[in-house]
Amino acid sequence: MKRKMSLNLKLNQDYKTAADFFQAHDDLLLLVHEKPDGDALGSVLAAAHLLQKLGKTVTLVNDDPIPDKFMFLPLADRFQLPEQVAGKFDRVISFDCGDRKRLGRSASLIAESAHLLNVDHHVTNDKFGTENLVDLEAAATCQIVFKIAYQLQMEIDLDTATCLYTGLMTDTGGFRYSNTSEEVLLIAANLLTKGVSPYKIVDRVMETISWPQLLLIRAALDTLGRDDSGQIAWVTITRQMVDTAGGCDEDVEGLVNYPRNVEGVEVGISFRESSPGRIKVSFRSKYVVDVGAIALEFGGGGHARAAGCTLEGELSAVQEKVLARVGEAVRSNTAHLEEKE
Ligand code: AMP
Ligand code: MN
Ligand code: MN
Repeated sequence: MKRKMSLNLKLNQDYKTAADFFQAHDDLLLLVHEKPDGDALGSVLAAAHLLQKLGKTVTLVNDDPIPDKFMFLPLADRFQLPEQVAGKFDRVISFDCGDRKRLGRSASLIAESAHLLNVDHHVTNDKFGTENLVDLEAAATCQIVFKIAYQLQMEIDLDTATCLYTGLMTDTGGFRYSNTSEEVLLIAANLLTKGVSPYKIVDRVMETISWPQLLLIRAALDTLGRDDSGQIAWVTITRQMVDTAGGCDEDVEGLVNYPRNVEGVEVGISFRESSPGRIKVSFRSKYVVDVGAIALEFGGGGHARAAGCTLEGELSAVQEKVLARVGEAVRSNTAHLEEKE
């Protein structure tokens, strides 16, 4: 049963710019970051629904296959690889991506003179669009897309609501992380009035794990490490561990929460050998350490409490370098707190 629910959301000029972009342009290329997560997919697919309602043609492109667990999202089957698409686009919208590099090979489809709208919430966003709606207060890009629809005074149907709820839920860790705000919960509640089934989505996307994923958790926990202060803990995932478990890259997601959640730990880290000589590092912090800034120093990015980067080198050398840097950050933040007391 659908119920009406009124909302009173704050919108700045950038929302007007984005809403105008939605209305003004057609034949749009819609992009998100490589290895797309729930927020990237939820936001771009919700936007695709809204744009189609406005009578626009959209092309969805990503470098990587869409994870099976997100294939239930309406229009998810419309994604193409950049190699499957001919020509370049003059009108492009990028979602949930902090810099052009993270668009990967898909960026080759952007014409040099293109109008590019950058819709994102990463603190490390470098405003690479010709137009930018970067809302650092938003917990998820899905929250921003909801507000673009609100600015456009568009009705949100069940398909769009399903996409938006999925990204709001995944980027807040199931409405648990520190980015879970009053506005997030108001929007989530509003999406339920459109008929969204929260249990079905959380069960598919967050609760259900594959058998290889569980085997990988077992193997990863065997590698747990912790520094002398007890404030930094980590797990290590080698290619061999992923292969032995019969898993894939996606199965590694979330492992970083085990060290992060340990009592007394401020920064949890996962080190994953993504290919020989390339190490993907994921950071999660609890209260004080800005891991987004650390990831940025290493050529990556993210948020203050969740960030990532990829480093070249041997696993042990990368670990040593990263742990030294995080150790410094933890010590300086702890010292800072002690000074305040
Ligand atoms: P992850 O550790 O991959 O789950 O990512 C945590 C957060 O950091 C997410 O918001 C990502 O979008 C962001 N992030 C991860 N890797 C990178 C990267 N190489 N460059 C920029 N942002 C990243
Ligand atoms: Mn994302
Ligand atoms: Mn996001």
